[in-house]
Amino acid sequence: MPDQSTSNVTPLRARRPCPECGKPSARETYPFCSTRCKDVDLNRWLSGSYVIPGKDDEENDVSSSGSE
Ligand SMILES: [Zn+2]
Repeated sequence: MPDQSTSNVTPLRARRPCPECGKPSARETYPFCSTRCKDVDLNRWLSGSYVIPGKDDEENDVSSSGSE
């Protein structure tokens, strides 16, 4: 029976896979594996918040300020 004491060592931090590609995350770009994936995620996030153009007008209607 081989010595398994080394497999018992727990890392300081649980490594999370890159949310973009699933590769092990890098320390500098945590939780992403690279700046590229970080950029992709950031871009998606930014474009996601600007995906609704000209919603200002409807905001008055949709808002829940109509509580009489
Ligand atoms: Zn990645």
